[in-house]
Amino acid sequence: MAENQLGGQQYLILPEGANRLMGREAQRTNIAVGYAVASIVRTTLGPKGMDKMLVSELGDLVITNDGATILEEMNVEHPIAKILVEVAKTQDKEVGDGTTTAVIISGDLLRNAGSLLDQGVPPAAIIKGYEMAEEKTRSLLKMASNEINIDDDAKLQDIAEVSIGSKNIGGESTKTYLTKLALQAIKQVATREQGKITIDRDFIKVEKKEGGSVNDTQFINGVLIDKEMAHPGMPKSIKNAKIALLDVALEIEKTEVDAKIEITSPEQMQAFLNQEEKMLKDMVDKIVKSKANVVFIQKGIDDVAQHYLAKAGIAAVRRVKKSDIEKLAKATGAKMVTSLDDLAESDLGFAGQVDERKIAGEQMVFVEKCKDPKSVTIFVRAGTKQAADEVERALTDVIGALTSTIEDSKYVTGGGSSEVEIAMKLRDYATDVGGREQLAIQAFADALEVVPKTLAESAGMDPIDTLVQLRSKHKGKDGKVYGVDVFKNSISDMDKLGIIEPLKVKTQAISSATEAAASILRIDDMISSKGKSPAGAGGMPPGGMGGMGGE
Ligand code: ADP
Ligand code: MG
Repeated sequence: MAENQLGGQQYLILPEGANRLMGREAQRTNIAVGYAVASIVRTTLGPKGMDKMLVSELGDLVITNDGATILEEMNVEHPIAKILVEVAKTQDKEVGDGTTTAVIISGDLLRNAGSLLDQGVPPAAIIKGYEMAEEKTRSLLKMASNEINIDDDAKLQDIAEVSIGSKNIGGESTKTYLTKLALQAIKQVATREQGKITIDRDFIKVEKKEGGSVNDTQFINGVLIDKEMAHPGMPKSIKNAKIALLDVALEIEKTEVDAKIEITSPEQMQAFLNQEEKMLKDMVDKIVKSKANVVFIQKGIDDVAQHYLAKAGIAAVRRVKKSDIEKLAKATGAKMVTSLDDLAESDLGFAGQVDERKIAGEQMVFVEKCKDPKSVTIFVRAGTKQAADEVERALTDVIGALTSTIEDSKYVTGGGSSEVEIAMKLRDYATDVGGREQLAIQAFADALEVVPKTLAESAGMDPIDTLVQLRSKHKGKDGKVYGVDVFKNSISDMDKLGIIEPLKVKTQAISSATEAAASILRIDDMISSKGKSPAGAGGMPPGGMGGMGGE
């Protein structure tokens, strides 16, 4: 950008039609866009939050109040909006819950930074103050947290119910039922090594089919495969299944080269076919020899091989996804085999029951009653596809929240109580720090309070009054547990009400919110190529939902 520094002669270095926003103007626009995106998901926060309906260009319908899903489905085009979408996605991936919180805190951090910029505080000082505040917040939150372990069922249940509480998927008893399934699943896949508990969320499969009601959702001690048995003559129900997992095609590979086989008589034709059939039968014989009675195959099965398998009384499922094969291995103890010659009885896994059942008009294979499986399934049922999707998202949040709690063994109080407490302590810290960073740390504290304010608003309480009352409660002795009771429209002891959340979810939300805000504030030059305006860049004008439905 040498030319630009010399004389602002942009035309020398930028192609014709390119757009550029610089300095304060770039910051102003970016802050407005960031805040606008956050405002979109704001109204979904907490148990009194509302849902959003999103319609894609193809007419697909999504009804949700999940922050990450809303932002993803909106297909936003503006680069700054995309940063906030990333915040939600990261939060989802890392801890599975707290996506809305992360995004709305980020929005307020940006807005408050805007006021500081107006007062002449340089961006570098704001960013430094924000980063100091974030670091302080992590240690303050940890100090404010309480211990919990995997056997503390009552508290884990509370955490699960708070997590699912904000999803509109049915009544109290339905939600409690779902959280119990999630907890059961987590305890089943948890592994303990040298006192440390690890939970691999990938091995809690959430499968769904519309039909039935949410209360028909079930826990499967094993894996559910959305496929049918390869041949109608195969057994549909197998007790004490001995399971082989194969990454082999039970087919004759067609030759790569264009070989021509000259067949001059019907006898020759028959001999050729017999040869193929024999090869397939040999393959099946190897499976029979291993004593397997159920096989899951990643590749295809030739009709002839299907016939021989059925004749041998072996159930087989073909074209099973690799990820499902991995889950089956974890659930049944089977080893995946890549060559039939290597297949031995010791490679087989076990399931007490394997069944093919017809669900909503389609066949599915249930691999159940596994012995201490480290891979399980929750099979979601609901009246409509949209409802089943939202139940799945709710379960993902609960599983994320419980996993974070158990692995980290710490929780904090919810309902905005932790945010008010940390904000109060940060203001003291700001005074100690002094200088220009002090202002940024105060702005950070204010941004955290967007959580209790939004919760109050969602319940129809006056946000400012509520905040003032909360602050004064927190100044008193044992005040740190006071938050917004959105059901009674009052200020209450969140610990007593069982409104508690994983420490890790909270910390992660605040950290990624800070990171995103800081990276947006660092930008003082937006250059976009021809046809894209950095101010509006394709359908995400500040304050609107113009990007909905995608481009
Ligand atoms: P996120 O995507 O951030 O998890 P949610 O919609 O799940 O957003 O809302 C989480 C917020 O709602 C947390 O601050 C949590 O403490 C609060 N919350 C959940 N249940 C209650 C409740 N019963 N009363 C008050 N606040 C609650
Ligand atoms: Mg949540």
